[in-house]
Amino acid sequence: MLLRQVEYARPGTVDEAVRLLSSREDARALAGGQSLVNVMKTRVAAPELLVDLNRIDELRDVSTGPAGELVIGAMVTYDELIRSDAVRAARPILADVAVTIADVQVRNRGTVGGNLCSNDPTNHLPPLMATTGASMTIRSLEAERTVGADDFFQGVYLTAVTPGEMLIRVTVPTLGPAEGDGWASVTLGRDGTGIVNVAATVSAGRARIAIGCVSATPVVVEADADEVAVPKAVADASLDPPDDVHASADYRRHLAQVLAWRAVKQALEGAA
Ligand SMILES: Cc1cc2nc3c(=O)[nH]c(=O)nc-3n(C[C@H](O)[C@H](O)[C@H](O)COP(=O)(O)OP(=O)(O)OC[C@H]3O[C@@H](n4cnc5c(N)ncnc54)[C@H](O)[C@@H]3O)c2cc1C
Repeated sequence: MLLRQVEYARPGTVDEAVRLLSSREDARALAGGQSLVNVMKTRVAAPELLVDLNRIDELRDVSTGPAGELVIGAMVTYDELIRSDAVRAARPILADVAVTIADVQVRNRGTVGGNLCSNDPTNHLPPLMATTGASMTIRSLEAERTVGADDFFQGVYLTAVTPGEMLIRVTVPTLGPAEGDGWASVTLGRDGTGIVNVAATVSAGRARIAIGCVSATPVVVEADADEVAVPKAVADASLDPPDDVHASADYRRHLAQVLAWRAVKQALEGAA
C-alpha cells in the first residue's frame, strides 16, 4: 500500500532534529524505518512530518566512557553493535543478542534507538536494558535528561520519550569482574519473533531477571541465582501473558520459568 502524503526533513544535527520534532504536534522521528514505515503503510500511524535521523553523525557512535561504560548513540544499528569492539569488551551480551534479531536486512537498518522507542513487547533490547542497568538520555528543545530502564518503558509502544523529544544515547555500565549476563528465548522459527525472551544479570549471587513478551513492558524479578529460587520468583510474579495463536498464556508462564533459569545459568557461567 502507498504511504499517505507526508512531509520529510533530514536534519544534520541533534539541535535541528529536536527543533523540527517540536515544531509540529504530529512530527515523528524516522530511524531504521523497520517498524515505523510498516505502521504508516497500514495507516496505523499517519505522522504529518517525518524527521529522518540518518544523517546525524553524532548519533552513530559507540564509545567507551571514563568508567569503561558503553555509550551507544541512538542511531547505531544492530549490525554496528554486533561488529563493535567496545561492545565486545564491555558488554558482549548486547552483540550476542543483536545477532539473533530477525534477518540481515533488519539488522542492517534497525537501530538501538528505534528498538527501544518502539518498545514492542516482543523486541529483544528492552529486557536487556532492564537487567544491564542501562540508562537512556533524552533531549528536548530546553533540556537533556537521563532515565533508567525501569522508568523508560511505560507501555506497549509507549516510553518516557514524549512528543517533541528524542532519545540520543544509551549508557550501559561495563560488566564487573564477578558479574555475568545471560539470555534465553523461544522464538517463532530461528531468529524469529519471541514467544518469551529472558535477560538476566548475576552479581554477588543475586540475579536480576527481565522477562519480555509477557506484558507491555519487561517484567523484572530478583532472586538468589539458583535453580530453585529463580523459577519460584518467576512463578510468584503472577505473570499475565497474552494467550494467542502462537502460544497459550499457560505455556508462556511455563516458558518464563524455564528460560529464566537458562538465562541465569548462562550469566553464572560468565561470572565464574
Ligand atoms: C521482519 C521484521 C522482523 C523483526 N523482528 C524483530 C525481532 O525479532 N526482535 C526485535 O527486537 N525487533 C524486530 N523487528 C523490529 C526491528 O528491530 C525494528 O528495527 C525496531 O523495532 C525499530 O527500529 P528502527 O530503527 O527501524 O525504528 P523506526 O521504525 O524508524 O522507528 C520506530 C519508532 O521509534 C521512534 N524513534 C526511532 N528512533 C527514535 C529516537 N532516537 N528518538 C525518539 N523516537 C525514535 C520512531 O518515531 C517510531 O515511532 C523486526 C522488524 C521486521 C521488519
